[in-house]
Amino acid sequence: MTTILAVANQKGGVAKTTTVASLAAALHALDRRVLVVDLDPQGCLTFSLGHNPDKLDSSVHEVLTGDAKVEDVLIETAEGIVLLPATIDLAGAEALLLMRAGREFALKRALAPILDDFDVVVIDCPPSLGVLTLNGLTAAQSVLVPLQCETLAHRGVGQLLRTVSEVQQITNPDLTLLGALPTLFDARTTHSRDVLGDVSDRYSLPVLAPPIPRTVRFAEASASGATVLSGRKNKGAQAYRELAENLLAHWNDGAELKTYDPAV
Ligand code: ADP
Ligand code: MG
Repeated sequence: MTTILAVANQKGGVAKTTTVASLAAALHALDRRVLVVDLDPQGCLTFSLGHNPDKLDSSVHEVLTGDAKVEDVLIETAEGIVLLPATIDLAGAEALLLMRAGREFALKRALAPILDDFDVVVIDCPPSLGVLTLNGLTAAQSVLVPLQCETLAHRGVGQLLRTVSEVQQITNPDLTLLGALPTLFDARTTHSRDVLGDVSDRYSLPVLAPPIPRTVRFAEASASGATVLSGRKNKGAQAYRELAENLLAHWNDGAELKTYDPAV
């Protein structure tokens, strides 16, 4: 059975794209066949996996509008992950899809024929709660919310949780909210922990382990078109490896997800 995970938060800069790329690389290293879907018109995931969105003939845009078959658009990345890429054309997909019936189901329908080829699909949602994110949440079985550990991180979380709950009621009753993933975490200060404690109290949202530490390796990696897992050993890569193991144990063996207790 294929597991489909959406990574969503309408806030930009919270490490959605970094989480998708790094987690996918970690899952691939654990011998899983991994597909990543770039749903952001900016194409940052596509770019960070070594493909220039400006040089691609077709993308997830044509797949969503029904003008291309998904299998004709997939590309392989250097690290062995398969990518359904985005180009700036995707910015027009919101408007095109809005005129169509069943618009929230376009991605789910498009992925159906290829699901058997993959063990895990990870979807990188754009920084909005528009039609593209609704497509991501409708196609997924579970959703993970990266949360940057800084003041005001909670702003917008309520709205995101309402969207998840609406999707559960209307387009995808099986969607599970796994919890928040702390990103850009600074273990040296109590600030990150205070922020997480506040968010988990306010929204009774599980905080997943391990927190992803802030390290300069991520910026270096995405600029070079590779993930942090391809380079030298570093604590960021290690954290995503642990997250991958945590998720696989949950999906495959029904183990409880390991959570992080900000109070400790
Ligand atoms: P989003 O997709 O939510 O907009 P990105 O994944 O693009 O966020 O990350 C935003 C910026 O933060 C990028 O420059 C990325 O390299 C950087 N970044 C992400 N995670 C970390 C981390 N753990 N430590 C340091 N920088 C990070
Ligand atoms: Mg992004």
